Amino acid sequence: MPEQPSAPPPLPVAAFFDIDKTLVNGASLLFLARAARTLGIVSLRDLVRFGWEAVKFRRRGEHLGVLDEVRDRGMKLLAGVSAERLHRLAASVVGRMRPRMWPETQEVLRAHLAAGHEVWLVSATPDFLAQELAVSLGATGGIGSGLEIEDGVFTGRFSGPTMHGPEKAAAARTLLAARGYDPADCYAYSDSINDLPLLTSVGTPVVINPDRELAAHAARAGWRTLQLDPSSIRAERRRVRQEARRKAA
Ligand SMILES: [Mg+2]
Repeated sequence: MPEQPSAPPPLPVAAFFDIDKTLVNGASLLFLARAARTLGIVSLRDLVRFGWEAVKFRRRGEHLGVLDEVRDRGMKLLAGVSAERLHRLAASVVGRMRPRMWPETQEVLRAHLAAGHEVWLVSATPDFLAQELAVSLGATGGIGSGLEIEDGVFTGRFSGPTMHGPEKAAAARTLLAARGYDPADCYAYSDSINDLPLLTSVGTPVVINPDRELAAHAARAGWRTLQLDPSSIRAERRRVRQEARRKAA
């Protein structure tokens, strides 16, 4: 009897998700700062000083050079922390982020996983955090800005370029080429015009809560746009609480 032909493997597809504002309603660096404070890794004084700097930077506009500067100053506060402690910090940060995630984006992410697609988080956030969040979501992996670790301790510096703008697109293209995936079959999700290189690297770009420039671009290009409302996060938290109560009862 001829062998039963096995089901054809699903079309190899990867979906890339930005983290800040796309997956989470907020900035991962701020979640990181709060968790580091709670765990006693940085002092309130450090954070207050950093907060002032960040506010000053924000008033100067949010172009990539400014974001780099804020991020670099923030990460210097973590110099000298062991890689193992950073890992524990990441778990705490992810615990803070989960209730602030957009349920709609999570649903899209889960649909990709259910379809057998790879799901990659791509963010300027430190790599240990992008990876921890990816694990907690059951995603394939997290790509972030690499930290320089020497003798098991974070030096306060990044090991390479910040994972944003063209770097995200380059990382995605490298990954797809290594796997032999066709970018035309792949997806990318972001809120920011800074991610235009990533969005235009795939066949299906989707914008989520886009900034003004990206919204205009998406409208012109006919890209799918998701406009989300924080009330959906509140509703999801209520639902989770009610479920927990039902289970406890
Ligand atoms: Mg973003």
